[in-house]
Amino acid sequence: MKEKSGSFREYIHSMRLHIVMIVLFTGVCCGCAFFLGSSFYVRMRLLSLKNESVADDIGKLTDKMARNAYTAAYELNPDIGRELQLMASFYDGRITVTDVSLMVIFDSYGLEDGKYLISTEAIQAVRGQSTLTHETGNDVYEQVAPIYEIADAQPGSTDRMVSGVVIVNYSVVPEMALAHDHNMMLTVLSVMIFMLISVLGILFARRLTEPLNTVTQTLDNVSEGYNNERVDLKGYTEIIRISDSINNMLERMDSLENSRKEFVSNVSHELKTPIASIKVLSDSLLASPDAPIEMYREFMADINTEIDREATIINDLLALSKLEDKNSDMHIALVSINELLELLLKRLKPIAGQAGVEMIFESYREVEAEVDEVKLTLALSNIIENAIKYNKEKGTVKIFLNSDHKYFIIRISDTGIGIPQTELEHIFDRFYRVDKMRSRETGGTGLGLAITKSIVLMHHGTVRVESVENEGASFTVRIPLKLVPEQ
Ligand code: ADP
Repeated sequence: MKEKSGSFREYIHSMRLHIVMIVLFTGVCCGCAFFLGSSFYVRMRLLSLKNESVADDIGKLTDKMARNAYTAAYELNPDIGRELQLMASFYDGRITVTDVSLMVIFDSYGLEDGKYLISTEAIQAVRGQSTLTHETGNDVYEQVAPIYEIADAQPGSTDRMVSGVVIVNYSVVPEMALAHDHNMMLTVLSVMIFMLISVLGILFARRLTEPLNTVTQTLDNVSEGYNNERVDLKGYTEIIRISDSINNMLERMDSLENSRKEFVSNVSHELKTPIASIKVLSDSLLASPDAPIEMYREFMADINTEIDREATIINDLLALSKLEDKNSDMHIALVSINELLELLLKRLKPIAGQAGVEMIFESYREVEAEVDEVKLTLALSNIIENAIKYNKEKGTVKIFLNSDHKYFIIRISDTGIGIPQTELEHIFDRFYRVDKMRSRETGGTGLGLAITKSIVLMHHGTVRVESVENEGASFTVRIPLKLVPEQ
């Protein structure tokens, strides 16, 4: 059942919605990945810069302390003390300095002076190891580093020993605030990009599906009866290809429709002609009740001929429609074509004799082929009968049979009236007759060659005609020896 146009269900299953969703989904995934990656990178970079800067400052300070003998009887050099105080307030943190026994000799908060500060990190520092720690859940970091003193007072000596520990606690709140600002900016940017992608997605989906709507509209118009509709699509190569294919199909449909109309009009015309003659003949008899018996006899004989003609047309039409039915059965068997032709010629001999035409059969070799004997006989009989019918007094019909490794060829040449060059391409059309009067006189329906062509095509063969007007015509039938079934 056709779904109601514009229904919600139809919209949900629409290609347009799916394209928009795919574009948005891809956009959102990329956006999230970009946001998370960028936010993580900025945060880590800011923290590492801060930690590096603190470590750098600690390095410089401990170096200075080492050179300037930072303690004087366990008291801190006042200059260095001022510098430490300055650094503590710069980092908005706390700096504690201990001697090698971990007794606090400087505390920027002034709370722990003289106390012992025992911690794993401080002990590690006494052993010469610097540490950086951060307690999860707060924004305070701690760096602990050893202070070295030159062991040997000799100038240029580089031997060092740990003489104390510096502990720096500092806050990373400003960096976190900066990272937060960056995240806000990224969020705004992401929303803007998301909106832009949405708009682009909708436009893209529309551009992609618009041609399909046009195609649907055109096909709907065609099914409603507007036969001259054509699709004119531009843009993507695939779309242009679809447009071309549809136009070719519409072209073909038009030509099939035209030939169907032509056929129907031809059939009705052909069937009407004998009936019209019968009507005229019977009317004249009815109009003259005193007509002599001879006249009755003559008119009845004419009526009989017309009835025979009508029956012939109907039989030919039925034969043709049966042949054009794709499911029509083929009774294929291995047949001797020589015998088939000899039998056919024997059957046609009386007609040829009546017309005063001589038939000559020449065979180059014995030919056996896989054919439908009845159908092929009908096809060849139509050509040979024509060669007799359209021949001249004392004319001849020559039938040649030959074969190669793949095909057998039958050529039927006559010495008759021939066919004008301009008519040659039409003579296989249904109801086509070069000379309607003559064809009618000889009992032709104009369907014989159409039937022949159908049968030859069913055998995957070809039939060609050559002719010189007033000299004769020559038909060549070429059929495969082995019938390969269609894929
Ligand atoms: P018909 O029943 O009228 O013979 P066909 O389909 O057999 O119809 O042939 C179509 C037309 O082709 C004929 O009417 C005739 O004008 C022409 N034709 C066919 N065969 C010959 C021939 N051998 N010589 C001359 N004209 C021919």
